[in-house]
Amino acid sequence: MLSQYCILQEVNFNYIYTFKKMSELKDIVAMGEDHVGSSAETPLRDNAFDLSDNEKIELIEKHFKEIMITLGLDLNDDSLSGTPRRVAKMYVEEIFAGLNPKNSPSISLFNNAYKYDEMLIEKDIEVYSTCEHHFAPIIGKAHVAYYAKDNVIGLSKINRIVRHFAKRPSVQERLTVQIVEELRAVLGTPDVACIVEAKHLCVNSRGVGDTHSSTITSQFSGKFNDHAVKMELLEQIGLDSKIDI
Ligand SMILES: [Zn+2]
Repeated sequence: MLSQYCILQEVNFNYIYTFKKMSELKDIVAMGEDHVGSSAETPLRDNAFDLSDNEKIELIEKHFKEIMITLGLDLNDDSLSGTPRRVAKMYVEEIFAGLNPKNSPSISLFNNAYKYDEMLIEKDIEVYSTCEHHFAPIIGKAHVAYYAKDNVIGLSKINRIVRHFAKRPSVQERLTVQIVEELRAVLGTPDVACIVEAKHLCVNSRGVGDTHSSTITSQFSGKFNDHAVKMELLEQIGLDSKIDI
């Protein structure tokens, strides 16, 4: 069972599939509180992109206005009157922009001219995501590593891939797996790993209200399942870092 607090997990694909069966047995509210994901794919409707971004912004603005009014807020107040529009634009154009494949980063690969065959690590990549169970922020870091085969990837592209998948309603386990799957596909190698350490504000600022806890998830693929390789990676990144929020 995946747990929310400060543990290092090896989430392999079999585990995810087993997980789906387990999750079906769980009450949906309890599932949300436990931050359980159900698949490596972000659950999207078949018609997810039938509406244009502008049409989505119009609709979300209308619905968010209703939420604010229901809460009892006076939208005639200057400070609040623009909020529904701001939230709608923020959802569609910024924090959930990674839902739309049209926003996928373009990836440039380079020939591995140096025949570099050691581990490459891109560490402390900023992660700003959103918990899909509470729509509250997830803030942390991702550490990504791979062994190149024929091609290497521009370093900033790794950050862009992390950012793209983070800009979705997420569960951290799924985000970690998605980053690894994308890099495996792009680089044409199974030898990829990702570790995400993050604070979930739905845990820190509400619910159990534990301001100190953070969550660590990991996905090791290919060579990274080798104990010595895994230990080298963990030693290189060091997991004693603090997440400042
Ligand atoms: Zn949450």
